[in-house]
Amino acid sequence: MLKQIIEALKERYPEPKCALHYTTDYELMIAVRLSAQCTDARVNLVTPALFAKYPTLDAFADAKLEEVEELVHSCGFYKHKARDIILACQMLREVYDRKVPDTMEELLKLPGVGRKTANLLLGDLYGQPSVVCDTHVIRITNRLGLAKGKEPEKVETQLRAILPPEESSDFCHRIVLFGRDTCIARKPLCAQCPLRPFCKEFSGHTEP
Ligand code: SF4
Repeated sequence: MLKQIIEALKERYPEPKCALHYTTDYELMIAVRLSAQCTDARVNLVTPALFAKYPTLDAFADAKLEEVEELVHSCGFYKHKARDIILACQMLREVYDRKVPDTMEELLKLPGVGRKTANLLLGDLYGQPSVVCDTHVIRITNRLGLAKGKEPEKVETQLRAILPPEESSDFCHRIVLFGRDTCIARKPLCAQCPLRPFCKEFSGHTEP
């Protein structure tokens, strides 16, 4: 059944991509940090001016906190986000040879980077098998019966155990798209859902 779910999602979303706009590895790190408790659309409205004002890693690392705060204000939690962005860029410059690291262990040392962000960076920057457990992935994999529980780390472990590694990153991107247009949090559009035959919540099936 998992294979059929993967195939159905592939057919519906042939080219899944991260919705955040970026051109460099550190810009993706920054955009993902801004996206916490915020929509990707809002982040994409904010980042053009932010990346224009700070066009290099050095510019971010040397930025004045209050000026970054002002630019990211509308993303919410702007004080924490601005501080993390500057500190993380300083760390990239001073510890990581100006590159976003390519291991979970090192990524988690960066200010403001948790497992969700680290997974996204590993998948999108380095093509590594990753499982980004955002709110859509947690909700929908529970509905489908692929995972159980709301804790991101536990859901990540469960999904890593069943997803083919080469599929996992794109699978999560597809699930996010699916969560936005069909398996919506409050009112899933089950009548038009291609995953209905495989959905535990809809049909009572229990096995992945
Ligand atoms: S049948 Fe409904 S609950 Fe199940 S995956 Fe589709 S939209 Fe979501």
